[in-house]
Parts: sequence; structure tokens; C-alpha cells
Amino acid sequence: MTNSDFIEIINDRENNLQNVSLKIPKNQLTVFTGVSGSGKSSIIFETIAQEAGRQLNSTYDSFTRLYLPHYHRPDVDAVHNLSPAIVIDQKPLGGNARSTLGTVSDISALFRILFSRFGRPQYGSGSNAFSFNDPAGMCPDCEGIGKTYWIDESAILDDHLSLAEGAIQLPGYGPKGFQYQALKATGWFDLDLPVAEYSAETRERLLNGECPVTVAFKETIFNVNFEGLIRQFTRQNLRNGKGNTEGARKKIEKFATMQPCPTCGGKRFNPSVLAAKIKGYNIYDLTALQLDDLLEVLATFDETAMAGLIAGIRERVQGLVDVGLDYLSLTRETTTLSGGESQRVKTVKYLANSLTGMLYILDEPSTGLHPRDVHRLNALLCRLRDKGNTVLVVEHDPDVIQVADYVVDMGPGAGIHGGQVMFTGTYDALRDSDTLTAQYLNRHLPINPTPRQAQDFLTSRPSSRHNLKNVALAIPKGLFTVITGVAGSGKSTLVEQVFAQEHPEAIQITQRPLHANSRSNPATYMGVLNDIREQLATANGVSDSLFSANSAGACPKCQGKGTLELNLSFMENATIECPVCHGGRFDPQVLQYQLRGKNIQEIMAMTVEEASAFFTDTKVAKKLTQLQEVGLDYLALGQPLSTLSGGEGQRLKIAKELNKKGNLYILDEPTTGLHAADIKVIIGIINRLVDRGNTVIVIEHNLDVMRSADWLIDIGPDGGSKGGEILYSGPVAGVTAVERSVTGQYLK
Ligand code: ADP
Ligand code: ADP
Ligand code: ZN
Ligand code: ZN
Repeated sequence: MTNSDFIEIINDRENNLQNVSLKIPKNQLTVFTGVSGSGKSSIIFETIAQEAGRQLNSTYDSFTRLYLPHYHRPDVDAVHNLSPAIVIDQKPLGGNARSTLGTVSDISALFRILFSRFGRPQYGSGSNAFSFNDPAGMCPDCEGIGKTYWIDESAILDDHLSLAEGAIQLPGYGPKGFQYQALKATGWFDLDLPVAEYSAETRERLLNGECPVTVAFKETIFNVNFEGLIRQFTRQNLRNGKGNTEGARKKIEKFATMQPCPTCGGKRFNPSVLAAKIKGYNIYDLTALQLDDLLEVLATFDETAMAGLIAGIRERVQGLVDVGLDYLSLTRETTTLSGGESQRVKTVKYLANSLTGMLYILDEPSTGLHPRDVHRLNALLCRLRDKGNTVLVVEHDPDVIQVADYVVDMGPGAGIHGGQVMFTGTYDALRDSDTLTAQYLNRHLPINPTPRQAQDFLTSRPSSRHNLKNVALAIPKGLFTVITGVAGSGKSTLVEQVFAQEHPEAIQITQRPLHANSRSNPATYMGVLNDIREQLATANGVSDSLFSANSAGACPKCQGKGTLELNLSFMENATIECPVCHGGRFDPQVLQYQLRGKNIQEIMAMTVEEASAFFTDTKVAKKLTQLQEVGLDYLALGQPLSTLSGGEGQRLKIAKELNKKGNLYILDEPTTGLHAADIKVIIGIINRLVDRGNTVIVIEHNLDVMRSADWLIDIGPDGGSKGGEILYSGPVAGVTAVERSVTGQYLK
């Protein structure tokens, strides 16, 4: 092989990497393994993806670069033979109310052509007539959104007040306001009578009436139309897509709620579009079908004239089905897809295009997939590779690691205890290695032989939300319960939407990023920073505010940001380290004050582990112990929370809860981002929460977590309309006897 058969990294020192040099074969599937925090992301995201983006950007002139994403130069001597890199991450697809699975997958576009040619009676000209995002196709009342705002009368009017007393809650209607003067000028309303006592006719005028009036306001005479409250609110806030921006929505939602549009019933299209049919189906009927059902219906569309189009649609739908998304429909709004679902949709999109010679980088694509469906993901990764691409994947799932052409194992530990390459080679060679990863690949935990006994239950009323078949949930109090089932079976609907609604006391610990500003870090999150500041203040006889990089102690040059923005006018803006504090964020004056030989900046640079040796007093030490117990001893006290992975963030949230009692916790896939060795730690933490008298519900696909639980509730048997039943509820071992349960078969 020549050198260009490899991506070559020379002396990588990014984050915790210890001068890593590494060759990664091109046009192959390489999986990166290793405990959380060992440095996998530092290599593939922070080094390879950054450097690929940076090298690509540098081929453009400086003006064009202004419009390109910014990449930093990784701390590495060299990276050779990179290709353009595409990161397929788990960020939700997002989009707005007009984005659906159909629109983002481009399948809606094909349906539009199909109906514009073959729909009968024929409608419009050109395929845009069949778009709910085009005036020609949209329902005129909801403008293609499928939902409309319903104004909540009780929110805009406080009935038992009179208008003079301020009955109207909308802004601008105060007695001195223009709107109030206009309303008064109609002569329709008794301003001193409580609105509740108005006749039905007067009330209707107040809400929806219209009347020309003359108003004297601030020494000017205005001739305007008085409009009733609802009429005016609708015109000003809701028409012409005005209600679709985030800011507008916040304002509107105080007074109105989204309901299905009464005109189109949520179908988004106008009646002419819906009247055009092929074989008895209109465009909405087809796109609302679950994808597996859609494939069956399309198989009956066998006229030769449409064969080419139908084949194109079926191929794309099949692509989505192949990654286990058979339970979705094309009408599903992208904003409601989970991170894992979003990532699979993106992967299918990249597969459908014909680019080759690319570098695809995926972060734990097995997230959200039941072991039953992992082989579908494997097939997808292999197809990406077989099209002539290099595929790099961070993964912990043994079934994915197994299909890798090449494995890079990082370790041995996390943070400063990691950052080295422990192994490179084939899967078979990995199994024979003496790495931590190999130890776990070769064995798994037994089914919990001594489950805690169920006594009382927390229940929710029967629900038919989404795909649920009138299902009630009963969770044993004070136990560790795992909720299982294939993707789309209804786990999140039942637990997070139905059950949690009825139990608002539940504490949901999700993978969503911590709501943190750029100055939050583990020390502020756990609340130890105030204690540390006080200790520094007492030791030096000064004010504790000096030790805050947000107030008195901030570096005067960068105001405590640690960096400066350089505006180079015609070049891209550059961020540089602050020359005064060197990124430490504190006023250099403050650094003269020490606690047992360390200043505030040195303390914030300590890892949790180092800090626990330094702070032996109970208050700080206790909280640091909580961080160590969830396996985060390698984090620095001052590491910005924005740099934590989803899994690290989730464990930080758990750490804060560790010493509480009598709570109800819901954890959504806590093993995401975790190596088998970390998973053992998480199982220990959950048991510890339960031992302290808490009830813990865990939605999981990891078999070791399932085996370790006290109680298992399996939902299925399949996804979407073929799921939504509780197949089993009881001690874990019992599920293996349930034939309809896929989970049961995998636990055998
Ligand atoms: P993995 O992907 O194996 O979980 P990472 O590469 O994300 O590991 O992290 C390796 C180490 O570098 C961890 O200790 C992590 O906390 C640390 N780290 C990651 N990003 C940053 C950052 N921006 N600043 C400081 N430390 C970081
Ligand atoms: P799981 O958590 O087991 O993966 P979900 O509860 O997410 O399953 O999904 C169950 C069913 O409900 C699926 O058919 C899914 O497409 C549907 N569903 C989930 N969320 C929504 C939503 N916001 N809008 C419409 N359908 C949804
Ligand atoms: Zn409508
Ligand atoms: Zn500074």
C-alpha cells in the first residue's frame, strides 16, 4: 500500500491526547472504542473533522471564508491525506413547522410530480400546486401549517373586571393607550360594567366587531377602524406567517394555543389538491401512511407510465425503512424526531447522493436502536463505505464494533488517565488483545438474581396517545425499572409524555445539553465554587467577589472571557487568547492570593480528582465525591460545560441528585456515549439512587442494563401502529418466556 491509502496523524496533543500518532486506512470502516473521556472525539471530531474543514476552507479566498463555518487549528504536528469530511451528528434535524420527513428527504418533491402528472381530476400546473408550502397548494386558513392558533378568551379578558378596570390583558389596551381610546370611541361598550355582564352581542362586538372611529390621540386626530380583540390579534400576529418566528411564538403563546386547523383537519392542503387522486388515494393519504404500509400501497401502483417515478419513491422510502424508521410517516414534523432518528435520516440522505471519496464521521449511530435493528445500521455503514468513502464511527455497541474493518481503541482511562492509543487492528485481533474493551466484549452480566420486590405502584391512566393501545403504566415504587422495546414502539410516548405528565414530580434526566452559559463549569454546577471563593477570601482577608471571573476578579482586558475577538476587516474575524490573563479569565492582581499555595486559576485547572485531594473539608469534598462516583473525576473544575458530551452532561446531572431521597427519576438511554466499563459504573449509580429510597425508570436498549434491573416493562411488539402494547411487566427473568417480545428473545 502507498501512503495515500491512509489518513496519517502525527503527534496529536488536542485536549487530553498524549502525542498520538496514528494511521487510519482510507475507504474502510473504522470504529473508535474506549471509555468515555479517553479521547475518541478529540481525534475524530476535534482533530480530523476540524482539520479537514480548515484545509478545505483555506482553498477559498478570504472574502468567501467569511461565509464559511469557522474551524480551529488543532494542536497537532500534521494530518495527511484528508478528504472532505461530513459529520453526521445527533443534533435534532430541527427545521420549522413546514419541515416534515417528506420535505427533508426530498420524497415529497417526487410525490408532487407524481400527482401533478397522474392525479385525477387534474389540478394546477407544475408540481408546486401539490406543495403545502406553496400558495397554490396550501390550505388558505392555516397557510399550510396544518395547525392554527386558537385564541384563549379567558387569557385575553379578565371577565369580572370592567374595561376601565383593565379587563383586557393584551398589551396596548391600558386606559391611556390608543387601542383603548379607539374602543371607547365606538360608543358600544359600558366601560364600567364587568365584561361578564355584557350581552352576548356586545361581547361578540368586543371580540370580533369592526367599526370606523375618530380618535384624538396626542393632539392628533386619527380616522381608523376599531377591530375586536380577536380579529386584531389574529391580523397582527398570526396572518401571513407572522406567528412562525420564535420570538413571535413566545408572545402569542400567552394568549393562544395551537390546534389542528378546522378547515383542512391538519392535512395542510387545499380542497383542490385533496380532490386529486391516484387509485383512490390523494397526496395526503399516501404521505400520512406509516412507511412500511406506504411501500405496500406503492407496490400496487403498477401502470407503466408512472413506473420510473414510483421506483424512485420506493427506493427512497426503502432507504428509510432499512435504517429502522418504518414506523414513521412522511408527514411527521422533523422537529419531533429524536436525535437518533435525526441522525439516521441524515445518513440515508447522504447515501442517496452520489458523492464518493468523502470522509463520513458518525457519533454513536446505534443510539435509540434496539439490538434487533443494529444489523440494519451495520448494512448502512457498509454501504457508505462501499460507495468509496472512508467511514469513521465512535461506537460502543459490540454488534457494530464487529463489522469494523479496523478498530482504534483509546485508553487506558479517561481525561489525563487516557489519551493514548491502546490498540489498532481488526476486530478479531481486538478480542485477543488485553484491552479493557476486549475484556468486556468477551463477557456480559447475568440476569439480576436478587431483584428488589415490588410493593406499591405509581400508575398512569390508560392512554391512546400516538400509537398507544389504551395502555396504563404501573411503576413499582422504590425499584429500578427498565423500559424496553424496539424504536418507535412507544416507550418515550408512554413514559415521558403520558406518565410524566401525570407525575410532575418526576425528575427527567435527559441527554439534552445542560442549560448553561459560557461561564458555567462543573464547579459552578455543583455549587462548590462559592465555598472555594470563601475559603480563598478568608485565607487572604479580602472580599470573595475578587475570586469571580464574572465580577470584581475579571481580567480587565477581556472582561473575564479569556479570549479577544480580532476584527480584521476584510478577513475572517479571529479569536485569540487574551494576552493579559492568557485565557485564565482572572485579573492578574487576583492571582497573588493563594490557598495552601494555589491561586484561583490553578484551582479551577485542577481535575475533580486532584481537587478532592486538595479540599479535604467536608462541604466541598462531599460534592466532589459525587462527581467521582459518576466517573467524572477526570474533568477540570473550570472546564466549560459546553465542552461536555451528552453522556458526560447526563452523568453530571445525576451527580447533583446522588444524595437526594424519595424522588422519582426518569433516565433516557443513560448508556449513550458509554463504554461497557462505564456502563458498569452507571448501573452502580442507579442502584445507589434506588438504595437511598428513590424510584428510577430507565429507557434502555443496552442488554447489561436490562439484565441488572429489578423490573422490566417491554413495549411492542414492533414500531408505530404495530406497537403500543405492554407485552410484559415484571421481574426481568420472566420476559424471556414471552414469545411476542423481541427483547425477551435477546435476553435469553
Ligand atoms: P471521548 O470522545 O473518548 O469520550 P473526548 O475526546 O471527548 O473523549 O475527551 C477527552 C478528554 O478531553 C476528556 O477529559 C474531556 O473532558 C476533555 N475535553 C474535551 N473537550 C475539551 C475542551 N474543549 N476543553 C477542555 N477539555 C476538553
Ligand atoms: P420509542 O420511544 O419507543 O422509540 P415513540 O414513543 O417515540 O417510541 O414513538 C411511538 C410512536 O409514536 C411512533 O409511531 C412515533 O412515530 C409516534 N410519535 C412519537 N412522537 C410523535 C410526535 N411528536 N408526533 C407524531 N407521532 C409521534
Ligand atoms: Zn388548514
Ligand atoms: Zn483576559
